[in-house]
Amino acid sequence: MTGIVYKSTGSWYTVKTKDGSFLDCRIKGKFRIKGIKSTNPIAVGDIVDYDIENTTDETTGVINNIHDRKNYIVRKSVNLSKQTHIIASNIDIVFLLVTINNPPTTTSFIDRFLVTAEAYGIEAVLVFNKIDTFNEETLDEQLFLQYTYESIGYKILRVSAKENKGLENLKKMMMNKVSMFSGHSGVGKSTLVNALEPTLNLKTKQISDSHLQGQHTTTFAEMFDLSFGAKIIDTPGIRGFGVVDMEKQEIGDYFPEFFALKEGCKFNNCLHKEEPHCAVKKALEKDEISWSRYKSYLQILEGDDEHYRADDYAE
Ligand code: GDP
Ligand code: ZN
Repeated sequence: MTGIVYKSTGSWYTVKTKDGSFLDCRIKGKFRIKGIKSTNPIAVGDIVDYDIENTTDETTGVINNIHDRKNYIVRKSVNLSKQTHIIASNIDIVFLLVTINNPPTTTSFIDRFLVTAEAYGIEAVLVFNKIDTFNEETLDEQLFLQYTYESIGYKILRVSAKENKGLENLKKMMMNKVSMFSGHSGVGKSTLVNALEPTLNLKTKQISDSHLQGQHTTTFAEMFDLSFGAKIIDTPGIRGFGVVDMEKQEIGDYFPEFFALKEGCKFNNCLHKEEPHCAVKKALEKDEISWSRYKSYLQILEGDDEHYRADDYAE
């Protein structure tokens, strides 16, 4: 039988079965996925095969197979062991909540997020929240950012979680998909999810950040069904969404507007830095692509790795 993992506690997995009920499952013996070294072999979002096990007083399941993952996101432990923990898998779409003020979301933060999404192969959408608070200046800034990201192919939503504005378009994008929400603390993630589904009380709200601080980073994700035919994956205290180890060579490929120009660079391994006849630099000088995006690119390229990781763990 086949089901989807909705929750994991490390040793037990809650699997939603085809008939819509939930079954507690465990793994028999040593169960490791080839090619992935992680602390947890099975993650929320995994599609698994299981057998039913009946004992005198309960029915449980034993997972015996995991279907190939479309994608998965990981968190590296910050302690010395540097172990990889799979946060979730088979994610269809990630929404980055962006606010202009209170708190400000920098383009560098947005770009790091988008690069990570590209590297994971997950569609990313920017959701500008708190549009009810805009004045002339913040509206200008938001529209400029919208132009910057729309013109390179990203989808944009403008919402007010507080005033229930723009939520229909968001719901449409979430329908029949597995979604994740991300963004700085204070951008309105809990408010938004509550606006989408008032009866859902997410962990993000209940577990205080201080409680999580200093803990081993094996925070467990959980999947929820929303009433309008969407699934969301919630992880306690989530901000960024994982870290990818990238080769310098590939970073530029995760900037779609650079990737589109790459053919025009003289060297096919061009880093778009000091190389002669670089199509990206040429486009930049003609203001055809964004300087703030290029700045973010250089930051990631310089490999300020600690800084990069800090984005994922701290605010
Ligand atoms: P989270 O940390 O991302 O989960 O953010 P919260 O949902 O806790 O929201 C942080 C603060 O922003 C709260 O005081 C919310 O009431 C407020 N907030 C969230 N969304 C909006 C919005 O659309 N407009 C306004 N004006 N405030 C909002
Ligand atoms: Zn180049």
